[in-house]
Amino acid sequence: MKTPYYLCEEELLEKNLKILDRVRKESGAKVILALKGFAMYATFPLASSYLDGCTASGLHEALLASQEFVKNDDAKEVHTYSPAFNDEDMMQIAEISDHIVFNSPAQLKRYFNIVKDINPDLHISLRINPEVSSAPKEIYNPCGIYSRLGTTLKNFDEKLLSSLDGLNFHALCEQNVDALEMVLASFEKNFAQYFRDLKYINFGGGHHITKKGYDVDKLIKIIKEFRKKYDVEVYLEPGEAVGWEVGYLASSVLDIVDNGMKIAILDTSAEAHMPDTLAMPYRAEVRDAKEAGVYKYTYRLTGNTCLAGDVMGDYSFKKPLKIGDTIIFEDQIHYTFVKNTTFNGIKLPSLVILRKNGDKEIIKEFGYEEYKNRLS
Ligand SMILES: *Cc1c(COP(=O)(O)O)cnc(C)c1O
Repeated sequence: MKTPYYLCEEELLEKNLKILDRVRKESGAKVILALKGFAMYATFPLASSYLDGCTASGLHEALLASQEFVKNDDAKEVHTYSPAFNDEDMMQIAEISDHIVFNSPAQLKRYFNIVKDINPDLHISLRINPEVSSAPKEIYNPCGIYSRLGTTLKNFDEKLLSSLDGLNFHALCEQNVDALEMVLASFEKNFAQYFRDLKYINFGGGHHITKKGYDVDKLIKIIKEFRKKYDVEVYLEPGEAVGWEVGYLASSVLDIVDNGMKIAILDTSAEAHMPDTLAMPYRAEVRDAKEAGVYKYTYRLTGNTCLAGDVMGDYSFKKPLKIGDTIIFEDQIHYTFVKNTTFNGIKLPSLVILRKNGDKEIIKEFGYEEYKNRLS
């Protein structure tokens, strides 16, 4: 199979979906997929048999959700949130969404009557900023200082309640239940007084439910208690937890140069194809490799763009690398192809699914057109 490609293992994806389905069934919460983190729609026939719908950040994700996830299944939901909507998108979003989540009271007031006229069945929610978060990095902290995301208690107005079916918050990033408990405590303290007439509370994403060590039982318990205490429905909208450890990015060694150390140049790119390794930043696991110096042969793995910093990191191998060897970066399915770019004209990796029966199916290949179509 020609590298580079992202390979999603259907069996591993289904394992995650089953854990999320257990949370749905045992807690009574609805679980919807955050397309922002994982949007390989060839897997949606599988995902939609376990999840209640999708959460979309704006028109394009809402269109994908309605075309590829909901299709004609009335039981599936599209929730659309955006930090700010514009007039043109709002019309179409109102038609294809079941829930619209506004970020500010001003946006709610601006669009409430318009969207309800278009779609009287729409549920309306407001995103709250609970002003508490223990997100590991400031770039991923929606409750940081001067955050534009969500409405603070100070900016909340009781008069809004007559327009609202629910409230949303999203304050976590790759976190366990203790982080949710902390945010919930603050959210309840400030906003529980308003829950009485609401139908639901959406706990957002960032719950690392499918990661080893996540306390799923405790999450179920917290949701059950919350639903009972306030008589509301609860939504979770994980992205990363759906696509967590379900596949990899495969690449090939194109050249090896020596400049103080051995440097392997690959046919992929940290900048273009694994953007979070530079944005977070974090070090991706490489199959059969360890930290520099652990095994006998250490290499700096680098990308094939002209960006000097297009570097994945230093890794050691048991055997010397040679031209044509395959390098596999683990866990590269969430927040990768939804973010990747054609920077430097570099080819986008193909999308491959490893089916449960062992077949490897190339579901999409990319070429020059993807680069040219974005330019003029
Ligand atoms: C990003 C995002 C999610 C999904 O977050 P994960 O960390 O991928 O689970 C859910 N809701 C909102 C509002 C988001 O911005």
